[in-house]
Amino acid sequence: MQSDSATASAWTGLIDGFGRKIDYLRVSLTDRCNFRCVYCMGEDVTFLPKNDVLSLDEMDRLVSVFVGLGVRRLRLTGGEPLARKNVMGLVHGLSRHLQSGAVDEITLTTNGSLLSRYAGDLMAAGVRRVNVSLDTLNPATFRAITRRGAIADVLGGIHSALAAGLKVKINAVAMRGVNEHDLEALMLFAHGLGMDLTLIETMPIGAIDGDRSDLYLPLSEVRARLGDHFTLDDIADRMAGPSRYVRVRETGGRLGFVTPITHGFCAACNRVRLTCTGQLALCLGQDMFVDLKAPLRASEGDDLLRRAIGDAIVCKPMGHNFVLEHLSHPTVVHSMSVTGG
Ligand code: SAM
Ligand code: SF4
Repeated sequence: MQSDSATASAWTGLIDGFGRKIDYLRVSLTDRCNFRCVYCMGEDVTFLPKNDVLSLDEMDRLVSVFVGLGVRRLRLTGGEPLARKNVMGLVHGLSRHLQSGAVDEITLTTNGSLLSRYAGDLMAAGVRRVNVSLDTLNPATFRAITRRGAIADVLGGIHSALAAGLKVKINAVAMRGVNEHDLEALMLFAHGLGMDLTLIETMPIGAIDGDRSDLYLPLSEVRARLGDHFTLDDIADRMAGPSRYVRVRETGGRLGFVTPITHGFCAACNRVRLTCTGQLALCLGQDMFVDLKAPLRASEGDDLLRRAIGDAIVCKPMGHNFVLEHLSHPTVVHSMSVTGG
């Protein structure tokens, strides 16, 4: 099935080699994070040298070139985007594209721990939606998953975001033997506050301590279990990206499933990612990067960059090649925190 974005014929922006319209850019502002989630990175992870990471001015320039090429949706992520120094300087700068109408939205994916501090500023800068990653409501399990996070900070961040008027979606990675029995409570919490909940299967991206196949929990199983207690009505949502959504009749809330391992979702892919080092990641599920830092720094004009981006986009692969076996031996070596989850 092809989405609107994949089929629009009047589109003059970026189109990949499979005819998919690319109008969504996710930007990793930093690989650094104040958490060490067990499925994302090792406890003793070595972060990139700061000199390898683009300055915020460089990020602004690069993102703005994408906007000039037709990108209409921006998502800031990481690592932990709110841990990047002067993050609001970048957000305020990019908000000019909202004001001019060049982009439809700027959104953020965050672990929520610093959200209390920034929620009001984000809203004032024109951000209207944030995704907060929260895998459990159980403080001890939360601590075990994040290795260093305090759940009270995240819950405080969520409440601040809602109070500021931001629309909040909760993302949770479902893990066998870790949070599988916490997901119902998480759903009731999210829906009780008017937030969507999206469940995500563990993906084989980057090295972690241990073996991801121990954590892997197919969402078909989670869905079946929730279906024992709730009525899950399928809904078609064209904006859903890789999520398949159901409406939970008893709560009235939406529940999404991102199932890269059990189902493909690549045919309607409209996105690329910019790493914090200025590499264009053509697909989250493949180590295919095109260097944009060199053309960025090679001249003050943007022609080189525009050409490099156009050449890269036509090489976007048809899809990821995640398979169960990769959970133990990820073929994608870059962590999601570098590429931008
Ligand atoms: N630090 C922010 C956060 O946690 O929301 C933004 C970056 S994080 C890499 C983005 C999302 O990727 C989070 O929802 C996280 O749970 C998810 N994630 C990280 N590693 C993953 C993996 N191996 N498989 C599935 N989801 C993963
Ligand atoms: Fe940090 Fe997000 Fe990775 Fe957790 S998932 S370690 S919060 S980047």
